[in-house]
Formats: sequence, structure tokens, C-alpha cells
Amino acid sequence: QPGDTLLIEDESAQRAFGASLLAHLAPHAVLFLEGELGAGKTTLTQGLIAALGFEGLVSSPTYALMQLYPTPQGAALHVDAYRVQHAQELYEMDLERLSEEARLSIIEWGQLFYGDFPGAWLLKLEHDEQGRRITRLG
Ligand code: ADP
Ligand code: MG
Repeated sequence: QPGDTLLIEDESAQRAFGASLLAHLAPHAVLFLEGELGAGKTTLTQGLIAALGFEGLVSSPTYALMQLYPTPQGAALHVDAYRVQHAQELYEMDLERLSEEARLSIIEWGQLFYGDFPGAWLLKLEHDEQGRRITRLG
């Protein structure tokens, strides 16, 4: 539910949390992850894409901007929008169409564009003394 918050104590729990999200994300869901560098966005993404059955390595697509992973349940799209300044750039990447086709799209640093994707999820990740705090904003 929006407003729900959770403390995740280590990296493996962060992955497990990501995996547990899958059951809540309908086909073609779009998930925005907001949080500073090191907040655990990519770790959560790794858990989620592994839960789709992808067995390879999932890393931060900072330089590629976008990475498409084939999974037994359909494509998983992973975007790092850190350097994206205008929603226009996302449209040029054809993100709308790709996300409609993908089983799941995960967008790091994309909170500015969350409003352009009706029905999308938004999670905020923060450093905490005991690990990372994750709050569902929408
Ligand atoms: P981001 O993608 O937000 O920059 P990463 O997922 O790359 O962050 O994580 C940065 C570091 O934080 C990694 O070394 C990872 O192992 C660690 N980490 C991730 N989640 C947690 C957690 N819940 N508690 C402690 N460390 C974590
Ligand atoms: Mg990252």
C-alpha cells in the first residue's frame, strides 16, 4: 500500500524483498525506484529480475541507459535515468512502447517521469543505520 515502509537489513534481504515484489506486479507493470547512489536500487532490481527466472548478471545500466533481459516470463526492462533530463529522452528511447511489451520495467532515478506512467509504482529507498529503508510512495 502507498505509505508502507520497511527496513531491510542487508544485501541478501534487499534481493529477497525485490523478489517478493514480483507477485504484486501485474504483467507490464512499471516500477520507479527513487533514492541516492548506493540506496540499493540495483540490488532490489537484481532480486526482481532473478525472480523472473533470469540467471545471468544484472548490473547498473548507467552507461547503457537501458538493458533488456530476456526471462522465461517475458522481457524485463531495466533503465537508469540518472542522466536523463527531459521526459522527451525517454520517449526517444521508445520507453512507452517497450514497457507495454515487457513483463516488467524498472526505472532507477526516474521519479521525475513517474507521473507520465499511469498505474506505475514508485518506491523510495534510503540509507538507514540498520540497512536501507524502503517506502512505497505510489
Ligand atoms: P544503487 O543502485 O541505489 O546505487 P546498489 O543496489 O548498487 O545501489 O547498492 C549499493 C550497495 O549497497 C551495494 O554494495 C549493496 O550490496 C548494498 N546494499 C543494498 N541493499 C542493502 C541493504 N538493505 N542493507 C545494506 N546494504 C545494502
Ligand atoms: Mg544503481
